Amino acid sequence: MSRPVRVRFAPSPTGLLHIGVAHTALFNWLFARKEHGSFLLRVEDTDTERSRQEWVEVIFDGLRWLGMDWDEEVVYQSHRVDRHQSQADALVEAGRAYRCYYLPEELEATRKEALAEGRSWRNDRRYADISDSEAEALEAAGRRPVIRLKIPEGRTVFQDRILGEIAVENETIDDFVIVRSNGTPLYHLAVVVDDADMNISHVIRGIDHVTNTPKHIQLFRALGAEVPEFAHLPSILGEDKKKLSKRHGAVSVTEYRDAGYLSDAVVNFLSLLGWQTGDDQEYFTRAEIMERFSLDQVHKRDTVFDLRKFEWLNGQHIMARSNEELWTLAQPYLSRAGLVAGGNGRDGDHDYALEVVGLLRERCRTLADFAVQGRFFFTDDFAYNPKAVRKHWAKEPEAVTERLGWLRAEFEALDELDTEAAEGVIRGLSERHRLKAAQFIHPCRVALTGEMAGPSLFHLIAVLGRVTCVERLGKAQDRLPAIVDQAAVAEG
Ligand code: GLU
Repeated sequence: MSRPVRVRFAPSPTGLLHIGVAHTALFNWLFARKEHGSFLLRVEDTDTERSRQEWVEVIFDGLRWLGMDWDEEVVYQSHRVDRHQSQADALVEAGRAYRCYYLPEELEATRKEALAEGRSWRNDRRYADISDSEAEALEAAGRRPVIRLKIPEGRTVFQDRILGEIAVENETIDDFVIVRSNGTPLYHLAVVVDDADMNISHVIRGIDHVTNTPKHIQLFRALGAEVPEFAHLPSILGEDKKKLSKRHGAVSVTEYRDAGYLSDAVVNFLSLLGWQTGDDQEYFTRAEIMERFSLDQVHKRDTVFDLRKFEWLNGQHIMARSNEELWTLAQPYLSRAGLVAGGNGRDGDHDYALEVVGLLRERCRTLADFAVQGRFFFTDDFAYNPKAVRKHWAKEPEAVTERLGWLRAEFEALDELDTEAAEGVIRGLSERHRLKAAQFIHPCRVALTGEMAGPSLFHLIAVLGRVTCVERLGKAQDRLPAIVDQAAVAEG
């Protein structure tokens, strides 16, 4: 009978929800959900100097945003210190651990001596079997013992679900400390006692923990607990092949959310870090990941955090959303940029908002992009990009002013300025004046949007509407010489 699947995500609340940590959480969550098991949360907050409740909240918030729901009550490791201590005492009682009264410098001296004599060194367990009265005498002399686990002879072998077989000679493990001389339990003890008490069946964690695993296995055995299966996830490296850090850009989930990444895109991207899907597909909906993910398809080689792929995937997830959904998602970014729904006296005009989203959706890689690329839809207060001005206005300012005037007059005379009408005006004017359509299109785009690229001009003219287009063309005509001068200065 195989054990019921119970996995845990065990973050230390010492900072933001780092991408690597979220990655570990995701692989645990996916595995638990696929296996119809339980995904548990354990806050490893015994480092009271560095742990803070606000980081716990940030981590929970990030998990919720990513859609990783958890089962059962959250376990706080700091609330379990008594249990860790009593288990250490029980190990001593059972002869699986011992109180060691060596002072650090004495132990170091035995190590040096062994080294000088060319012997391999291990703790000689000098204090392992002392009598109560000897112990009392040492305590009376001011010595406080640490508790060490007795590592048996032999090898520790385990089958890592990702890395394959790992075997370690026990003489390299040493009788490590599980409780300090001040009585505080060490990390290894806390993790194993908690995993045993939580009945964890699979420990899925970052590869940086793999060197701890033989120690943990020895502890499980000493405690008489069932040893879980282990799966160590590959490291995530930056494109320079160094461990992912601040140097590579944003490294926390919150930063990506603030930058306008969709939670589905983050899940999609994280899932690809180490998971070999078996084909070239990269865009996955959450449902597809749930269906196809398998821990047995996770590779062991390092995986590279490719920011461009992340952006591209986010764009794909944006494109998969309806205009209505995108509008809901993009609104907070617009408000943050001081832009309100509708703009231009069209506050709250929902249809207008949806049309804008429809024009921008294919161009936006992030939700924040809607506020940047779409600014001119929501306010007349946009800047004229000096590059656009130099390219499309500055070479022949008088002629451009005149052309903008013709456009303005024709637009003003129309009853309705829709896409066809806009195109008709521009084609008509260029024929009449023997100019290329581009000689109207580019200067007009600069006047209406401040930019030289963006959504289709005829469509954006129709969405902005006649009144706004006429006003902006007029403003451009009036201010053109000044704007051209400014753009020239910007070049200098
Ligand atoms: N709290 C540890 C960490 O954040 C996790 C320990 C484990 O998964 O065993 O690295």
